[in-house]
Amino acid sequence: NERTLAIVKPDGISGNYTISITNIILQSGFTIQTHLTLHLAQDTVTTFYAEHSTKTFFPSLINYMTSGPVLIMVLEKVNAIADWRTLIGPTDARKAKITHPHSIRAMCVEDLRRNCVHGSDSHESAAREISFFFPGYAVI
Ligand code: ATP
Repeated sequence: NERTLAIVKPDGISGNYTISITNIILQSGFTIQTHLTLHLAQDTVTTFYAEHSTKTFFPSLINYMTSGPVLIMVLEKVNAIADWRTLIGPTDARKAKITHPHSIRAMCVEDLRRNCVHGSDSHESAAREISFFFPGYAVI
């Protein structure tokens, strides 16, 4: 088994997608190992998305991710990292609607910035992101 970090972002929570997303997670064979609802502080988002700190969209990403509470979860199953990325769909939720109509981002349909959910994109980032929010949890 493998673990990954999933986040229901502020637009996912305020749009009332949490229950639908949780159902998709469980129906897809993941177990939710632990979870946490937090209203992220600017510093936390800055550290979490440090790889994007030089991008022009960084200030808007910080604004978005601090705009309301988020639900952070550790998901576990065989091939969890890649399978969760497939389930959430492409970064641009408007494009996801066309190319991946059954993806979670297509369901929430916002835009390139507000895309409802996050998923770790590699084993390395899953390890970093899981221990960032849940110290002591391993990626397996
Ligand atoms: P995430 O890391 O949140 O799972 P991702 O890996 O699909 O998303 P990244 O390229 O890592 O996409 O971008 C991180 C986040 O930054 C995106 O989810 C989105 O919220 C925001 N973002 C990315 N590109 C843009 C952009 N061009 N304009 C505005 N926001 C953007």
